[in-house]
Amino acid sequence: MELTANEIEKNLADVRARVAEACAKAGRDPKDVQILAVSKTKPMEDIRAAMSVGQHAFGENYVQEIDRKYAELGDQVEWHMIGHLQRNKVKYIIDKVRMIHSVDTIALAQQIEKEAEKHGVTMDVLLEVNIAEEATKWGFTAEEAPAAAKTIGAMPHIRVRGLMTSAPYTEDAETNRVHFRNLRLLAEKIRGENDPGVVMDTLSMGMTADYTVAVEEGATIVRVGTAIFGARNYAEK
Ligand SMILES: *Cc1c(COP(=O)(O)O)cnc(C)c1O
Repeated sequence: MELTANEIEKNLADVRARVAEACAKAGRDPKDVQILAVSKTKPMEDIRAAMSVGQHAFGENYVQEIDRKYAELGDQVEWHMIGHLQRNKVKYIIDKVRMIHSVDTIALAQQIEKEAEKHGVTMDVLLEVNIAEEATKWGFTAEEAPAAAKTIGAMPHIRVRGLMTSAPYTEDAETNRVHFRNLRLLAEKIRGENDPGVVMDTLSMGMTADYTVAVEEGATIVRVGTAIFGARNYAEK
């Protein structure tokens, strides 16, 4: 069931209002929080509806889908890769995405470095951290992350901009507050090490179920799909 353009516009206004409210509660400037509209599986009309009300950044999980959507819109908007990325697919997105949120191994970073060098770009990346230590999730552990940041930051065509996490599925956003706080504390610890190539100014955390709590805990990017575009039907991807 696809939403109408009007519904998407209204949803986006709603998400913006809730982000602003969470910022007010936490004494933060809403300008410091980027709303990434997660458009995976959703058609171009939906992206255009969001664009019509000023949405400029879109998150996607699948390389082929980025390829197809980029062919239509190019750099009119920012594309962010947020899904698990296989090394052999880096070459398809290296010159299309503004940021890769899902760097979860050193080997993947090495492949990004290689392709970025080939294309003469410096890629902004986030290290995915499995902050709640879920068996099913990709990502570095909190213990591994500082050394990984140092190693990846030293790669000349990569800038480590921060950390990303997908918190556990929950019906009660409050239960994820501790994970968001822990991710922020981990980023602060890594920032304190002043590693070359490591900037640590970005925290990508919070999805439809819990983005307001993530903002209260310091998110600088929230990745919101369902609350903007409605439920996904993976069969139609
Ligand atoms: C799909 C996805 C989202 C968006 O999830 P919603 O619950 O629909 O907001 C955010 N982050 C990642 C990594 C995703 O895969």
